[in-house]
Amino acid sequence: MKYTWVGLGILWALLGAEVALAGRLTFWRFNPQQSRIELVADEGMQPRAFILMNPTRLVIDLPNTTVPRARDRTQISRFVRAVRVAQHDRQTTRVVLELSPGFTLRADQVRVRGIAPNRWFVQLPNFLAIQDLDADALKTATISVPPPQIPAPQVTVASRPATGQVVVIDPGHGGVDPGAVGRGGLQEKGVVLDISNHVSRVLQQQGVTVRMTRTSDQNVELAPRVALANGVRANVFVSIHANAISLSRPDVNGLETYYFQTGYQLAQRIHRSILQRVDVRDRGIRQARFYVLRNTTMPAVLVEVGFVTGQIDAARLQTPSYRQQMGEAIAQGILNYLQGR
Ligand SMILES: [Zn+2]
Repeated sequence: MKYTWVGLGILWALLGAEVALAGRLTFWRFNPQQSRIELVADEGMQPRAFILMNPTRLVIDLPNTTVPRARDRTQISRFVRAVRVAQHDRQTTRVVLELSPGFTLRADQVRVRGIAPNRWFVQLPNFLAIQDLDADALKTATISVPPPQIPAPQVTVASRPATGQVVVIDPGHGGVDPGAVGRGGLQEKGVVLDISNHVSRVLQQQGVTVRMTRTSDQNVELAPRVALANGVRANVFVSIHANAISLSRPDVNGLETYYFQTGYQLAQRIHRSILQRVDVRDRGIRQARFYVLRNTTMPAVLVEVGFVTGQIDAARLQTPSYRQQMGEAIAQGILNYLQGR
C-alpha cells in the first residue's frame, strides 16, 4: 500500500502516468464506512488536497480534469455536512468536503492514495471506527499467505448431486460505481456482470438454486451482498471482480483467486477449473481480508478474472465468447466443489 501525503501526489507522476491529458471525473462518492472520498476519472489525474478552516473543509483539486455537472450532497454522515463537486476553473475540478460543526481535521490526518492513475482515494481519519475493508481498498494491499498444504484425497469420494444447493453469485460494483476502469475505458462492472450471468445459467442447468446480488447495472453496497448470502443460508458465495493496476503496466495480466478462512477448497476448485479451460496467466490463490469474504458465514471466494489494465486480459475480457468461457469455467469449479470432486 503506497501513500502519498497531502500535496505530494507524485506517485503516479513517477510512474509516467498520463497526467497531461485532460480527463473527466466519471465517478465520485464519500464512503462513510471507509471514511474516504473515492474518485474515478477516464484519464490519469493527480489530486491535490488542502484544508480550509471556519468551517473546516477539505479541498481536493483535480487539475486537468473536468466534471460534467456540479453536484452537492448534504448530511452524508454525522461528521460530514456536505460534499460539493464543481468545476473550479476551466482546467480544474474541485471537490470540497465540509465537516459538521465541532469536528476538525489536520492536513497530516489526510492521505491521498492512488489505486490507479485514474482512481484515487482520499482517506480521512477513521471517525467511525468501522474497521471493515472494502474489496477494492485491498486490491493493492492483499496479504499474500501461502495456501495450506492439503494432501490430495487418496480415495475417490462418491459425488453428491448439486441439486438443491444454494449458490450466491456476486458481480462486483455496478451502477454509479464502475469498478476498475481499464484499457479503452473497459469497465469492471460490465465485464463481471456478463461473466456472472454465465455462471448462474450453467449452475441452474445443473439444478443449483442461484441468487445474484445484482442482475443489472445497479449500485449495491457490500453489506446487503453479504446479508443476502447469509440470509438464504447459501452453501457457497462467489464474488466476481476484475483487477486493475496502473495503465502504464499493460504487462500485468492474470487470474487471482482469493479466500479468507473457510474458502480455500472452493478457491482451489474454481482456480484450477479456470486454468484448465481458459487461456489466462496464473497469479495464484491468495488469502485476503476482503469484506465479503470475512462477513459471509459459508465458504466464500473472490475471483479476480483478469486485469482490465492488462494488454492481454483487457482484449480478452472485451470478447463475449471469452467471458462465456470464463463464466462456464467458474461454474464448473463450483460444481466440482459442491459435488465433492
Ligand atoms: Zn472490483
